[in-house]
Amino acid sequence: MSKNQEKNDSQSDVMDSIVSLCKRRGFIFQGSEIYGGLAGTWDYAPLGVALKNNIKKIWWKRFIDDRDDMYGVDAAILMNQRTWEASGHVGGFADPLVECKKCQHRFRADQLIGEDGKPSSVDAPVKKCPDCGGSLGEIRQFNMMFKTHIGAAEDASAVSYLRPETAQGMFVNFKNILDTFHPTLPFGMAQIGKAFRNEIAPRDFLFRAREFEQMEIEYFVKAPKDTKDDGKSEDAADGWQKVFDDFRQQIHGFIADIGLTASKVHELEVPDGERAHYSKRTIDFEFDFPFGKKELYGLAYRTDFDLKQHAEFSKVDLSYYDEETKERYVPHCIEPSFGLDRTVLAVLADAYTEDAMSDEKRVFLKLAPAVAPYKVAVFPLLKNKPLLVAKAREVFATLKAEFAEVGIQGVAFDDNGNIGKRYRRQDEVGTPFCVTVDFDTIEKSAGVTVRDRDSGRQERVAEGELVGYLLGKVK
Ligand code: ATP
Repeated sequence: MSKNQEKNDSQSDVMDSIVSLCKRRGFIFQGSEIYGGLAGTWDYAPLGVALKNNIKKIWWKRFIDDRDDMYGVDAAILMNQRTWEASGHVGGFADPLVECKKCQHRFRADQLIGEDGKPSSVDAPVKKCPDCGGSLGEIRQFNMMFKTHIGAAEDASAVSYLRPETAQGMFVNFKNILDTFHPTLPFGMAQIGKAFRNEIAPRDFLFRAREFEQMEIEYFVKAPKDTKDDGKSEDAADGWQKVFDDFRQQIHGFIADIGLTASKVHELEVPDGERAHYSKRTIDFEFDFPFGKKELYGLAYRTDFDLKQHAEFSKVDLSYYDEETKERYVPHCIEPSFGLDRTVLAVLADAYTEDAMSDEKRVFLKLAPAVAPYKVAVFPLLKNKPLLVAKAREVFATLKAEFAEVGIQGVAFDDNGNIGKRYRRQDEVGTPFCVTVDFDTIEKSAGVTVRDRDSGRQERVAEGELVGYLLGKVK
C-alpha cells in the first residue's frame, strides 16, 4: 500500500468516526433515515443544535450585536422569481453535469480528473465512467436551484425557487433599511438562514449538502471615485479596500472565537477569471478538512453589481444620497460569507481526538468551551446512594441557575452507568468539565472534584467557590 493510499484511508476513517460519533451521541442524524435517507440532507439532534446555536450566537455577537453599523434581517426563503433573474442565478447558477450512458450515474464534470491530471472540461472531457467504466455522455450545464410553484397555478408566472444563498434577501431589503433606519454609509446588513442547492454530488457529510445554512453580511461602502479602482489608489484607502481588509481580520477573529486551529485555515486569493461574475476581488478561507483543503468561507468585493441589477429589474431606485458630498450614487458592497454547516464540520473535525487514558483508548472532542453543547456535567459518585444523588442535584441546580444568570446554557446531570463510563461519554461529546459529588463532599464538607476533559486531572474545589471557578474557565 502506498503512503498516499494509507493517508487517504486514515482520512476517510476519521470522517467515518466523526459521522458515527455524531449519530451515536446525538449530534447529527441522516435526513429521513427511516426511509433510507435523502441524499444531501442532515437532521441536527439535541447536541448538534446546541453546538450550531452556540456558533450562531458567537457570530451574531461579533458581527451584529457588538457593532453599531449592522442591521440584522431574516428574509423569506421564497422570493419573487425576478430576484433570481436579476442576480444572474436563473441564467448562470449551474454546474457542469455528465452522465454515464451505461450505469446512469451522474457526476460533476469538474470533479472528474483526466489522465493529464486536469479536471474534465468540454475541451478535454473525461470519457470513461469512474464507477463502471462505461462511456460518459456530453457535459451539459445543470442549474442548481430548486424550482417550485407558488399557489395553485403551475404556469411560468407561478415559478419560484428555494433561495440558493441568503445574500439576495438583503439586497432586496436595502431600500427598506435606508427608509426605516436612515443609516449613513458605511453600514451592513446580516442574516443567518437556510439555503438550498441541488448539488449534483452531495458528499463529505455536512460539507456539501443540498440544504444548509449560511451566515452572510452585505456591507455597503461609498462608490469609489475611480470605477477602475483596483484598491491601490488613495481613494481606496478609506473605501472598499480598507473594509475588505477589516473583514479579513474579523473572519480570523471569529475563527479564533470558535476555537478552530488557526494554522489549519489558509487564505486563497482567487485569481482573475476564476471569480464569480460579480466579484472584483475574492479571498477564499480554506480549512484542512480530513478529506483535504477546502473552502470554508468566502470574502468578496461585489462592487455595485447586485444593487444595480435589482434597480434595473425592479425599476426601484436603489441609490443612496450622501449628505456629506451632496452626491447620489449606488453603494458598493463587501460580502463576508460563512457556511454554518461547514463551520460545524470544521469544529468537529478539528476537535476530534484519539488518545490513551489509563491504558485505554479514548475518543474525545476537544471543543472550545464557547461552542461545547455542555460546559459542565454534574454526577453523584454512586447512583444508588440517595444522599449523594440529592446533593449532586442541588449542585446541578445551583450551577444551572448561576450560569443562566450570565447567559450561559449547557449544564448537564448524569448518573447513568458507572463513573468511568460517564467520563467517557462526556469526553465524547466534548464537555470540558465534570463535577463529581462524593462521600467527602457530604461527610467532610470537602467540596467536589472537578475533572478536566483534556488532561483527565481532578481537583477538589470548595462548594462555595465552584461557580466562580467554572465560570472563569468557560466564559
Ligand atoms: P463551493 O465552491 O464549495 O461549491 P461556493 O463557492 O459555491 O462553494 P458560495 O456560493 O460562496 O460557495 O457560498 C458561501 C458559503 O456557503 C461557502 O463558503 C460554504 O461555506 C457554504 N456552502 C456553499 N455550498 C454549500 C453546500 N452545498 N453545502 C454546505 N455549505 C455550502
